Amino acid sequence: MCQPLHAVVVGAGIGGLAFAILARKQGLRVTVLEKTEELTPVGAGIQIPPNASRIWAQCGILEKLKEFSVVSKATQLRRWKDGELLCTRTVGEGLDDRWPWLVIHRADYQRILVQEAEDLGATIRLGCNVQAVDFDLGSLTLVSGEVIAGDVIIGADGLWSSLRRDILGHESPPQETGDLAYRGTFSLSALQELGDLQVDELCRQDVVTMWIGPESHAVFYPVRCGKEFNLVLTRPDTLPPNVRTEQGSLSEMMALFQNWDPVLTQILSAFSSVLKWKMMHHEELATWTRGNVALLGDACHPSLPYQAQGAAMAVEDGAALATLLGIYQQSLHRGNGDGAKQLTIPKILENYEALQKARTTTLHLGSISNQQMYHLDDGGEQKERDRVLRAAEWRERPLGETEAFIWIDVRYQRAIVERDTIADARAQWDKMVSELGANK
Ligand SMILES: Cc1cc2nc3c(=O)[nH]c(=O)nc-3n(C[C@H](O)[C@H](O)[C@H](O)COP(=O)(O)OP(=O)(O)OC[C@H]3O[C@@H](n4cnc5c(N)ncnc54)[C@H](O)[C@@H]3O)c2cc1C
Repeated sequence: MCQPLHAVVVGAGIGGLAFAILARKQGLRVTVLEKTEELTPVGAGIQIPPNASRIWAQCGILEKLKEFSVVSKATQLRRWKDGELLCTRTVGEGLDDRWPWLVIHRADYQRILVQEAEDLGATIRLGCNVQAVDFDLGSLTLVSGEVIAGDVIIGADGLWSSLRRDILGHESPPQETGDLAYRGTFSLSALQELGDLQVDELCRQDVVTMWIGPESHAVFYPVRCGKEFNLVLTRPDTLPPNVRTEQGSLSEMMALFQNWDPVLTQILSAFSSVLKWKMMHHEELATWTRGNVALLGDACHPSLPYQAQGAAMAVEDGAALATLLGIYQQSLHRGNGDGAKQLTIPKILENYEALQKARTTTLHLGSISNQQMYHLDDGGEQKERDRVLRAAEWRERPLGETEAFIWIDVRYQRAIVERDTIADARAQWDKMVSELGANK
């Protein structure tokens, strides 16, 4: 019997774990190397939009995720000052609702993925800090000196990826976006203790609420089956260039948002401590691959989280790459009987990049466009934006016609959330094989 391909993954974040799960489902041998000694996910809530939940449904773990999440019915945009409802984007209205839009605590998400990867037979090794990659030998060297070889190496090592530098051959750090975020979660009981009827009403709705205002916005939604709530506030970045995160001052945060909707400021008063995060992103990389090594997730396309798509894109990358490698392995085991003799792992990785890179750039630029739309100063442009948002019709316009904002552009939104990554990866395989056949 043929040996399975060995995939060595650097990083046990959402992207690395997604690859591990899908690659094990395809029968690859998978080793995940994670530098932290313990997996303690940083951050608070995370949204799992339908393009990611569809992949989890295809893997059979959607129900497990649902046990710890809330199915969001809609995303609502509200005016910063008074909470006026400007626009509701309902899942199902204009958008396919076969796969849910989940909101979950990041710790629950990562725990479920780790469990699933291990149950499927992936090896996850903690405390393994990868220091160097050898492209010729197809191996990684850890800080401890240990060398680990694989048939394919996946750099899922996040925003500050060292494999990105190694693949590009030069330093390529992420860039500042101009924004920073405060993030935190509250228990339902802490919010109920505020004794505010409007806060109580908001907590009863399974929706993502966003307040948009000058230079800033806030995002609030339930996690843990509605027993906890997540809040993210963004504002202009004032952290020094080299500082990524810092303990924030509650009084400074309250002062910045003091004139916002009283419902929001009530919720803010429940914060007991707050962490500031510098928000970083990266322009499109020249390449995601070199030899038998490829990047995925934030390592190759960190973006502003203003479409809730960062982790979802990492899941898509993992699914696309695992699907292509899985079909490649089957083809090897059949002795390349499908006429694809010229196929090699670098060729597979190139096709993974061809499938994913342009899409992630579109989403990266979409987040920047949302940043501009959300953060308009009060005035003529904001009034026009609000008028357009209030009048949104949720129907796909004829080809050639676009909406003023991608947020209400049904064609754009459908292209994001209705994507079937696994089907697209299979189609990419067929395209690759037929092109190779044509070139024989
Ligand atoms: C405020 C905020 C809100 C967000 N909200 C959403 C949302 O609602 N929905 C969404 O889809 N996305 C969201 N995102 C984006 C999302 O968090 C990221 O895009 C996603 O977590 C990236 O996953 P990843 O696996 O690529 O990287 P990471 O999660 O960063 O994982 C990288 C892993 O690699 C490990 N590692 C790094 N270097 C090494 C090394 N040398 N050796 C071994 N291991 C290493 C790290 O320890 C880490 O565990 C948000 C981001 C922010 C900042």
